[in-house]
Amino acid sequence: MALPQEPEDRRPCTIKDCDKHFCGDAEMARHIGEVHGEAKRCEYCSYTTKRSSRLRAHKEKKHDYKGDLLFSYKPVARVSS
Ligand SMILES: [Zn+2]
Ligand SMILES: [Zn+2]
Repeated sequence: MALPQEPEDRRPCTIKDCDKHFCGDAEMARHIGEVHGEAKRCEYCSYTTKRSSRLRAHKEKKHDYKGDLLFSYKPVARVSS
């Protein structure tokens, strides 16, 4: 009785302590970017995430972020004379 063999071309993730395996470099590169990539940080608070889509969702929810509108908004400094 022979056990089904693992395909030879599947390679383990290059990151230590990760047990994922991949068929190709592109697949692994995407995984590393998503799972082991550098965290993106919210400009408005200390929230961090590795997924830019999640960061955007966070900003929309927590900071009322609407695309580039927030960047063009500048509070008007009131000068009292
Ligand atoms: Zn991994
Ligand atoms: Zn934030």
